[in-house]
Amino acid sequence: MISQIHYTVSFKEPQAHYAEIELQIVNFTEEFITLKMPTWTPGSYLIREYARHVESLTAYSDGKIVEHEKIDKNTWRVKNEKEGITIKYAIYGFETSVRTNFIDSDHAFLSSAATFMYIDNYIDHPITIEVKLPSQWSKISTGLQAVPNKENCFYAANFDILFDSPLEIGNQDIWHFEAAGIQHEFAMVGGGSYNKKRLTEDITKIIEVETKIWGENPNDRYVFITHNYHNGYGGLEHLNSTVLAASRNAYKIPAAYKNFLSLVAHEYFHLWNVKRLRPYALGPFNYDEENYTEGLWIMEGFTSYYDNLIVRRAGLYSVEEYLSALANEFNLVYNRAGHKIQSAALASFDTWIKQYRPDENSPNTSISYYNKGAMLAVALDLKIISDTDGKLRLDDVLKAAYQLFYKENERGFEEHEFKKLAEEITQVDLSEIFDAAHTTNELDYNSYFNRVGYSFINTSKDSNERSLGLKTHIVDGRILIKTTERNSAAWDAGLNVNDEIIAINNNRLDTASKDLDFILETSEIDEILDILIARDGLIRTVHTPVRKSSKETWVIRKNTDASPRQKELGEIWLSE
Ligand SMILES: [Zn+2]
Repeated sequence: MISQIHYTVSFKEPQAHYAEIELQIVNFTEEFITLKMPTWTPGSYLIREYARHVESLTAYSDGKIVEHEKIDKNTWRVKNEKEGITIKYAIYGFETSVRTNFIDSDHAFLSSAATFMYIDNYIDHPITIEVKLPSQWSKISTGLQAVPNKENCFYAANFDILFDSPLEIGNQDIWHFEAAGIQHEFAMVGGGSYNKKRLTEDITKIIEVETKIWGENPNDRYVFITHNYHNGYGGLEHLNSTVLAASRNAYKIPAAYKNFLSLVAHEYFHLWNVKRLRPYALGPFNYDEENYTEGLWIMEGFTSYYDNLIVRRAGLYSVEEYLSALANEFNLVYNRAGHKIQSAALASFDTWIKQYRPDENSPNTSISYYNKGAMLAVALDLKIISDTDGKLRLDDVLKAAYQLFYKENERGFEEHEFKKLAEEITQVDLSEIFDAAHTTNELDYNSYFNRVGYSFINTSKDSNERSLGLKTHIVDGRILIKTTERNSAAWDAGLNVNDEIIAINNNRLDTASKDLDFILETSEIDEILDILIARDGLIRTVHTPVRKSSKETWVIRKNTDASPRQKELGEIWLSE
């Protein structure tokens, strides 16, 4: 047994990107303590090997160093001599992302899974954490519960809660507001052109729309930590907080600002969808290895469908802006050759080796379960709206699933259980859509949009755009091939990624102008181009035909000849 687990975090050299971590384990009665550093953090499905940033681990008992050894990449075994032990180590953090530690002279962002070790077999034990602030910093933002009357001291009921609660430490700009009856804290790091009043008003609307969808807001308090960069975008969801990355100037550019609101809507939606309503594999977690699920198309895909829809339902996107954002999900999938190779369920299962580890061939072999899941979600929503004559929609399925699996049964779900519940509630056969998540067969999306008075149209059908099926980038003043598209002219001719394009038809390409675009625009379909390349230092010519571009541009438009009932259903789908 253990009577207390207490962490102290301090910063001797923040400018060199280090934090000092001290762990006190009181009244431990076993002979050895096994400490483990998580290999990944929930929500970001990649083994990140956080142990690689651990240094100088030393164990003490009664002030004396005790025996300890490292037994694998992320595990330490410490001899317990006097029913209590103190372990000290340092953590290096210099990776700017929402899921890795970053420490410098301005602030520290600590992802808890990258910072704190758990004690094997004691993952359910409560933990207290004290943060010793350096004199230049004065604020801590975290979803962790504060310990009353103890300054900068926090409590986590178990390690799962600790690992789900990042800490922002420094001089961030903090403000508070109430939305849907819940206290919210907003912490801005890194400056930026944000308008607090407007942000608060807009985010309040988003929170209210989302709380209404789910029927309740389960937190007492919620914290937004936003890191503003010269250029940044992304987010990571947690139980009662989120970490967002944004661009400092995004707040003043209307489209970028709405994109940020959509990110806020996305991460906030996750507090229900994935943090509470979730597949079995996504909690309780195994922090030692990959946790496989085919269900991310529901967790991330549905959340991606709802993020823009909620911005629309909060009145912050016009119908046209929303439809354009939705069509973009389709265009991203249809313009990746990988959509004919990888299903949404397989993309989910393989996220550990694909989504977070892209390479030059990724567009040819994989899709994003975010985009494909959003496509399947809109099909579900439209089918439920039309087949229940507007009485129900996907909201009702999510709310019921949250009530049943999370609140009543207090467990995760299997996909077939989720589908069964959805069909019971709606009395609609949803097999076609659930089946489509497991194959690369595409649904007839136009028929789904038609049901609510809209059309799904490929506007590129008559385009005469020409293409070689390659993308280039300039490296050290040379034009290099970055990607080649499956079954394109470049693919068939054998042009390779990293080939340097020197000349076409004996004309040298100029890196400063768009010579390649010009050649394509002025050539005929099927015309053969003599492309002079350098590959690994050897010069050769590759004869490559010009082909019609396979790029697809889909749009969603209102049907002028829709029936009055279809129009009413369309109103239900998109009204505020
Ligand atoms: Zn997400």
